[in-house]
Amino acid sequence: MKDDLRRKAGKDFLQIRSYVNEDGSELPVLKFETLEQYSFLEHCYSLRDGGVSEGIYASMNLSYARQDDPENVRRNYERIAGIFGRHAEDVVVTRHEHGTHVIRVDHAGEPEPAEMRYDGIVTNVPGVVLCALAADCMTVIFADPVQKAVGVCHSGWKGTLGRISREVVQTMTREYGTDPKDVICGIGPSICGDCYEINDEIAGKFLEGFPGHGAEILVDKHNGHQMLDLHKCCEITLKECGVRTVLVTDVCTMENPEHLFSHRVMGNAHGNIGAFIGIKEEV
Ligand SMILES: [Zn+2]
Repeated sequence: MKDDLRRKAGKDFLQIRSYVNEDGSELPVLKFETLEQYSFLEHCYSLRDGGVSEGIYASMNLSYARQDDPENVRRNYERIAGIFGRHAEDVVVTRHEHGTHVIRVDHAGEPEPAEMRYDGIVTNVPGVVLCALAADCMTVIFADPVQKAVGVCHSGWKGTLGRISREVVQTMTREYGTDPKDVICGIGPSICGDCYEINDEIAGKFLEGFPGHGAEILVDKHNGHQMLDLHKCCEITLKECGVRTVLVTDVCTMENPEHLFSHRVMGNAHGNIGAFIGIKEEV
């Protein structure tokens, strides 16, 4: 894929890495070079490109919850999981409810009970691939190279306000002895602060939730609307709990609808992109 992504200056550059699908077509994904340096882990952020879904889901839709053909979604997971040397069945996906619930998973397959909802997942088991879905909302991946543990979460405005990212770090500390200062976080392709317009009511919640940070996270348009920088909110949350390295996407979903799904651009007629992270099995 030619790199025709519109990028944000001053953010962390997401590399395009290309793989070959079983039919010879190209599977491009995005990765942070900083995370590629750790040989124990694999990660990627999917694009719209490289899948088999059609129409409004073309082509790499990863959501079974939309009206896409489930067999196409499964084949899309199979392709992405292949990057990890794994299969669709090895992927554990958030069942998000815009909350702050984080679960630990120790094996692949669907967590029980089926009605359980969770916006974050952690694991230290090699071969389990974690995934969070979005289409403008943030996805965040977490890697602890010392305890060899990983996490992922979906963080929309509600989860961001509820500090879901802190919940993931604290869960890793509780379950795996993770020291937050060792954790490297990557905020994946999502809506940027120049594009995310909210009303004064929601802005008020963020002023309350992030006291002293108003000037960093909000720009008041004085028409009942404000621009909110979710990435900055997430960075503040992670720094507050001791994380030192936070990589922030330079690719905004709303500015790149040709390559990414964006709820704000497409309304309800869209698929979902995903953030993936996992620990490699020993070879
Ligand atoms: Zn943007």
